[in-house]
Amino acid sequence: MTRQQFYVTTATPYVNARPHLGFALEIVQADVLARHRRRRGQPVRFLTGTDDNSLKNVQAAEAEGVAVPELVDRNANAFAALRDLLGLSFDDFIRTSSDPRHRPGVERLWLACQANGDLYRRRYEGLYCVGCEQFSTPAELVDGRCPEHGVEPQPVAEQNWFFRLSRYQRRLGELIESGALRVEPASRRNEVLGFIAGGLEDFSVSRSAARSRGWGIGVPGDPDQVVYVWFDALANYVTALGYGTDAPDYHQWWAGGGRRVHVIGKGILRFHTVYWPALLLSAGVPLPTDILVHDYLTVEGRKLSKSNGNVIDPVALVGRFGTDAVRWWLLREVPRVGDADFTLERLGTRSDDDLANGLGNLVNRVVSMVHRYRDGQVPGDGPAAEGAERLVAACRRAPGLVDEALEDGDFRRATAAVWAIVEEGNRYVEAVRPWELARAERSDGAPPERLDVALGVLVGACRRLAEELAPFLPEAAARIAAQCTAVSGRLPAPEPLFPRIGRPTLERAAR
Ligand SMILES: [Zn+2]
Repeated sequence: MTRQQFYVTTATPYVNARPHLGFALEIVQADVLARHRRRRGQPVRFLTGTDDNSLKNVQAAEAEGVAVPELVDRNANAFAALRDLLGLSFDDFIRTSSDPRHRPGVERLWLACQANGDLYRRRYEGLYCVGCEQFSTPAELVDGRCPEHGVEPQPVAEQNWFFRLSRYQRRLGELIESGALRVEPASRRNEVLGFIAGGLEDFSVSRSAARSRGWGIGVPGDPDQVVYVWFDALANYVTALGYGTDAPDYHQWWAGGGRRVHVIGKGILRFHTVYWPALLLSAGVPLPTDILVHDYLTVEGRKLSKSNGNVIDPVALVGRFGTDAVRWWLLREVPRVGDADFTLERLGTRSDDDLANGLGNLVNRVVSMVHRYRDGQVPGDGPAAEGAERLVAACRRAPGLVDEALEDGDFRRATAAVWAIVEEGNRYVEAVRPWELARAERSDGAPPERLDVALGVLVGACRRLAEELAPFLPEAAARIAAQCTAVSGRLPAPEPLFPRIGRPTLERAAR
């Protein structure tokens, strides 16, 4: 793996409500990528934040009877608080309404597109879904309703600024086709290519200031209009780096090469693979290099939504089951392609089977045996252990397999490579039966080498686990590393690593 710079972002969620589990999935994925690259020695910058300037936020504040900044503040703080709850390592958090870096960057991007002749005024009538913050064409509606939000879009007629997207159709197709703008997985790449091939129409990039109650960023030179919230929000990926003031960070992390990776959900694919790159092409700004697209979570088979009453609060989940259990479920259970169904029972089973029984038990047994049979002292490196070939191979292969899987944004495949060490470790313990070797030493005076070698291999495997698990379960990995690190020549006393969850039933009781 090279030393090239790695800049990774999440989408910026609307702050009309508190965070839900779907966003936890996205930000944990981005966190794993950031942690993984840092451990492999790459310079990393990880950005997240909130999209404050949405009409949705205005409407949510009106419904609650509070001022928009108050609602936005409260919910944005809830997103920022995910850092500790989910064990996140982001370097920067941008809020598009209040961050002083944002507005100058949006204005600069706007003026650059304008200077390139890509912005023009036009009267427009259409159906607008506030949930999507997007005009919908009749063909996109199902029974007259937005398929994403299940509501009828509102008719809107106004004079807006438009962006000449049509000019970029061929260039965008080439960039995605060639992989210069890489879209993963392939099914999403094909979806975008199909969309582009169908023809790109110019799109509206401003709204009337009256309709948005003045909330948002004014169009430079046209105070009756505010910049379309998607134009505004997408720009955060460069405004946070100081694009607006041509700051050194912008040159280091964006304009200066390296990887520029956006982790997003499937619902906003077009914004990131068509609109955003087109704006950048127009403005003469380099494009992102990778768009990693995840699917959605469902809860007990139904889409996460407030109207379904099944919005899972990650804060409550972590409070009850801990960061490790929640991260592990998101990373180990959610497939690369296809929606994943969350239930509390699955979370509990996954955590107990994998963490408490599989991983926790292995480390605990190994540390206990080192204490019982060698007074806490880890035997030094010995000859190759007979029968440990598969375990040794799993340890050796894991880093490369993790690298490959994460390159594809496949977190389940990455965790499977680490998991092979746990499985082979437990299998090896059962096969070599260290307790019998210890008995043979005591009663038959057998030489100590065989047990020394077995314990050495096992402690080495646990250390490799701590190393490779660190991006996925940073807290647990630190505990495992501590258990396997001698202090004054001896391992610390064995301690249980994970609580047992059992079969949680709160969800049912709450109905
Ligand atoms: Zn919608």
